[in-house]
Amino acid sequence: EDEVNIISGALALKTKTVGEVMTRLEDVFMLPETAVLDFQTVSEIQRQGYSRIPVYRNNERRDIIGLLHAKDLAFVDPDDVPPTPLKTIIDYYKHPLIHVFEDDTLNNVLNNFKQGKSHMAFVVKIYGESDVDVDPYHEITGIVTLEDVIEEILQAEIVDE
Ligand code: ADP
Repeated sequence: EDEVNIISGALALKTKTVGEVMTRLEDVFMLPETAVLDFQTVSEIQRQGYSRIPVYRNNERRDIIGLLHAKDLAFVDPDDVPPTPLKTIIDYYKHPLIHVFEDDTLNNVLNNFKQGKSHMAFVVKIYGESDVDVDPYHEITGIVTLEDVIEEILQAEIVDE
């Protein structure tokens, strides 16, 4: 029974798309690049509990400029005066940002994750491709992680520790 589910889940990776499993941008916990790593921000990061936090430019959440890993905070003292700017940490670690398209199949995304650059990808949607009157443009609409893909294979929610 379990084995049959896993096999059909694995086969479905060829047809399911990122759009079906992604976490939408409005639901993503992110930080603005202007944030400082004071007690309040570090507590909020802890409380949210995510291991990766996208960082966006100013007031535009779709303009992702970096990625903070929760473990990057190991050497940051939230009681420092003045507090460490988030930008300092982002520029130091420079975690790679990878992008996938909303209509990419999960099996392509899994291959991308297997290359090991990152286990979180930013989801890009292209608008106006079929409209001859407007230039097509693209926008980040969310994130997808290795866990989202693995859940599709197992066809069950993975409950985080
Ligand atoms: P974590 O390691 O932080 O638990 P996972 O990669 O295991 O994250 O993903 C677990 C779920 O949480 C997935 O559905 C993923 O899309 C979502 N997720 C990951 N990071 C964030 C974030 N910063 N904000 C909101 N959702 C996130």
